[in-house]
Amino acid sequence: MKRRLFSVLTVALALSLSGYRTVAEEKIKVVATIPDLADMARNIGGDLVDVHSIATGVEDIHAVPMKPSFAVLLNRADIVLLLGLEAEHAFLPALLEAARNPRILRDGPGYIDCSVYITPLEVPVRIDRALGDIHPMGNPHYNLDPVMGRDAARAIADGLSRNYPEHAATFKSNLDAYLVKLDAAIARWEKEAAPLKGRKLVSYHPDMIYFADRFGMEAAGTIEIRAGIDPTPGHIADLEDRMRREKVDIVVRELHYPAGLAETVAQATGAKLVELPAMTGGVPQATDYISFIDYNVRTMLKAVQGGA
Ligand SMILES: [Zn+2]
Repeated sequence: MKRRLFSVLTVALALSLSGYRTVAEEKIKVVATIPDLADMARNIGGDLVDVHSIATGVEDIHAVPMKPSFAVLLNRADIVLLLGLEAEHAFLPALLEAARNPRILRDGPGYIDCSVYITPLEVPVRIDRALGDIHPMGNPHYNLDPVMGRDAARAIADGLSRNYPEHAATFKSNLDAYLVKLDAAIARWEKEAAPLKGRKLVSYHPDMIYFADRFGMEAAGTIEIRAGIDPTPGHIADLEDRMRREKVDIVVRELHYPAGLAETVAQATGAKLVELPAMTGGVPQATDYISFIDYNVRTMLKAVQGGA
């Protein structure tokens, strides 16, 4: 009798454990390289997904520090989401190799490149990594343009549906609901950003071009010589001359770049210094993709409309 009770309990326990495990396993494990994509995946996947981001948002996307825990996360992942266009070249290929998970390798079904619907700008005619080219496929910083953010969200929904066709209807309706929210925000930003039209900016790294295009600004140069190439005194002197000539009066320092040089250039030319995050999570206010774009539009507006 005792024995029988024991075995009944054992079976019940085993069943409840396996039941528990099934629930946990049913969640699709998504790992995104950056919080922008993680936020979109949470919106599109809803209860079906468990989402982690490798970067927290304060990093340089071209140099996210690697941790062993990222390989563990990727080893268990069903899906990896990336900005693409080689933006994650400095860390993702090595992490994917360490993760030993064929599902999410470049040609695997779980590898979702969110740039598939993007037409990149600044595609080089000649690629030369030896010269330090870190934008070999064109400019990868399209996440700063919310209309391109739309395209990334679509790529995520399509990629999830390809992997889990049984949930395609849910992904589609969640995507539609998210795009309604994002489109409303885009309409508001385009209206609010009217004072930005025609304004010229210089940024530290060439990552403001899509934002500038979207809101009618002009990206007129960078403190870096080009993507990933540190400035020289000669380059800075030329840049300052050109800024004075072309009346460039905004210097953007992306928050992961050093403050000193951007401040110096702004002071030397009488331009206003604007400090912006390059990803969701880059400032405490940018808790999700919409609040990230919101922060950038408002901060730029504040700079252009005067005040301190
Ligand atoms: Zn870049």
